[in-house]
Amino acid sequence: MSERAAPFYCPYCGDEDLRPSEEGHGAWECAACNRAFRLKFLGLLARGVQRADDGGDAA
Ligand SMILES: [Zn+2]
Repeated sequence: MSERAAPFYCPYCGDEDLRPSEEGHGAWECAACNRAFRLKFLGLLARGVQRADDGGDAA
């Protein structure tokens, strides 16, 4: 299973100084705020991909 989701910013402090954690795959550590967190892919949304810039809902 290849689960490679790399965050660009810390979700807590917004810093970019992230490094993979030794806790396992999907786990990251922020050197700026000293937090560790884990990313987890939950699956695709049932509603699929929608265009958000469509204006009103004419359906
Ligand atoms: Zn942080």
